Amino acid sequence: MKLLDIQKPVTQITGVGPSLASLFARLNIFTVADLLTYYPKDWEDRTKTIPLSAFSQHQKVHTIAQVIDHQWFGYGRMKTLKLIVTDGSLTASLLCFNRPFLERSLPINSIIALTGSFSYRFGELQSSSFEATLIEKDGSLSKLSSYKLLDSAVYSLYPLTAGLSQKQIRKAVHKSIQEYGKGIDNELPEEIIEKYQLVHKQTAIKTIHEPENIEQALLAKKTLIFEELYFFQYAILKRAFERKGVATSTKTIEINLDEFEKQLSPLQEQLLHRLSFELTPDQKKVIMEMNLEIDKSQEGTTMAQLLQGDVGSGKTLVSFFACLRIIDYGEQCALMAPTEILSKQHGENAAQLLSPLQIATIEGATRGLSVAFLSGNIQNASRIPLLKALKEGEIDIIVGTHALFSKQVQYNSLKLAIIDEQHRFGVVQRNAILDKGRQSIKSQQTPNLLMMSATPIPQTLSLTVYGDLDISTIKTMPSGRKPIQTHLTKMGNESRVYEAVRLELQKGHQAYFVYPRIENQELEDELFDTELSEQEDKENQDNREKSGTLKSAEEMYTFLSEQVYPEYKCALVHSKVSEDEQNHTLELFRKGQIQVLVATTVVEVGVDVPNATCMVIEQAERFGLAALHQLRGRVGRGKDQSQCFLIYGDTLTELGKSRLKVMHESTDGFFIAEEDLRLRGPGELSGIQQSGYLTLGIADPIRDRELLEIARKEALYQLQKSGNTT
Ligand code: ADP
Ligand code: MG
Repeated sequence: MKLLDIQKPVTQITGVGPSLASLFARLNIFTVADLLTYYPKDWEDRTKTIPLSAFSQHQKVHTIAQVIDHQWFGYGRMKTLKLIVTDGSLTASLLCFNRPFLERSLPINSIIALTGSFSYRFGELQSSSFEATLIEKDGSLSKLSSYKLLDSAVYSLYPLTAGLSQKQIRKAVHKSIQEYGKGIDNELPEEIIEKYQLVHKQTAIKTIHEPENIEQALLAKKTLIFEELYFFQYAILKRAFERKGVATSTKTIEINLDEFEKQLSPLQEQLLHRLSFELTPDQKKVIMEMNLEIDKSQEGTTMAQLLQGDVGSGKTLVSFFACLRIIDYGEQCALMAPTEILSKQHGENAAQLLSPLQIATIEGATRGLSVAFLSGNIQNASRIPLLKALKEGEIDIIVGTHALFSKQVQYNSLKLAIIDEQHRFGVVQRNAILDKGRQSIKSQQTPNLLMMSATPIPQTLSLTVYGDLDISTIKTMPSGRKPIQTHLTKMGNESRVYEAVRLELQKGHQAYFVYPRIENQELEDELFDTELSEQEDKENQDNREKSGTLKSAEEMYTFLSEQVYPEYKCALVHSKVSEDEQNHTLELFRKGQIQVLVATTVVEVGVDVPNATCMVIEQAERFGLAALHQLRGRVGRGKDQSQCFLIYGDTLTELGKSRLKVMHESTDGFFIAEEDLRLRGPGELSGIQQSGYLTLGIADPIRDRELLEIARKEALYQLQKSGNTT
């Protein structure tokens, strides 16, 4: 049976009772399959001796030692035993907090197997987190080398939750492998396993949890990663095939920009003539590409486009052109954006640019193009007639939020779904809007899909991750834009930045101030767990130290509004403010009634206020490159020179330094995305991962990109072999 089909509850595993099950539930482990796919994040190798003298090169020492003295320190109830030990390489102290009983069980002269992490403190080598097991009560130092390590195995280290220990997980995993492991079938084709010298699924599951050595564990991990990537690619290629009849995105059409005007449909032509500026070559190219796809879709294929283009590159306008061609075919379009404020902006833009256009009707008359707006906040009084008009086909374009695919909404003939800032939507939502098209009154086909994103992902990745879509890119920016000036300033010099911003405010412009956190709050103290790895312990501590010094939007709002800019109107937005209030504040900012907007990354997406010319990001090293780029894209949207101030703290890491350098040197989103990938290495991939488009577990598309390429090739080959493609 397939591993994921072992849906027995964990309580069926010997030794797992209700209380352990409830701890597992906190880790989202409910079934045997969940437990078996709860892979270790690392392993601890206790097969090799690591002497005390090597303490600094390893997380843990693992050695045989002799207890040479007992000492006590502290008084009264605080009195604590200290075991002095040596393993021949060095002498060290074991601090036995809460373990006075070790005085008896580990007497002077006893030989012990010792595992622990050590560091120099107060002039001696110490450990307070160690395990010591007695080997012999009265041993001899000269014979140390003849003793064998008792405990020589590789141990899996799992992410824990409070109250759960490594031992408990290991035991439950062990039992479930014993009880269910034999029934697990291979999923990868045998020939692939052989070709790449991977292991069978049963072996992989056993040895990722209980390897005999690290090499074995790594091979198991590679196998599982490969398997995941293979099926991920298989599914994508299959979708591409079902949509277009070929399993890869192949763009072979030649585009001749000279033909641009000739190929426009009537409404597209009208819009072109209304524009006060020239379209960029890339805008034209993308419009022509989509025109071809839309025309083809009249014969039953479907367009599925991902349009990437930097902030401000004019994607919205391109999407309007796509809408117009659809409307010329007599069909409807929906434009969806992730937030109310952004969708409202699109709605207003559409109303202003498109409503004046005239559609020729069959009877030879004309009518105006009809644009509507829908969000959860539209009350019944206007909602009911709106829904009716939509259903009857009287609305040509509807712009809105998630409400566009809510239950009561029905379309007359939805033929184009546009999703702006697509990474903010999940696959489920994407399918929900496509379903609305399939349920249209007039046509029951899958509508054309246009997804837009200003978070470009590097090409190598986009091909594999979005392999079932056609990808178009707008690289050229509209002319006449003044590139944003980016200044790096060290913390301590904020007042200079505040004064520079004041000059802009005096000219009637507006400013954003962005901070890494919302409010000041104590971080919950992590429960102390001796089985946390050294690394985790250190990270927790680092986090605690760093967060102590983090500036919050709330405190800075008070400071800026009362001390720095009392003469200007300031406001605060962040995600803990209700959505209505956020919208209201942003609306006032847009109308220019607020000059200084203090915020968290909630302003990252979509807010379009051309009069805002300053973006100040404090503790900028706390933000990822993608976020910094998006935030900076909030300014430079008008004709005036804009500035971005990145203020960085004292604790700048090398990585942080490199990021800020990239921001200083470039405003090109694609370059920044490539750099982000290069700098970050393994780790989360902003945008794609959170979209749910990529539901990977053990694989990481960046770290494992070589395997990803191979998996893609193999998946394509297998798909073709099975006759699923032509
Ligand atoms: P994006 O969604 O790609 O970030 P928008 O579509 O919001 O960018 O466009 C940003 C601004 O640029 C809008 O005000 C739009 O009207 C304007 N714009 C779009 N195309 C052009 C162009 N070719 N020339 C000048 N301005 C343009
Ligand atoms: Mg946009």
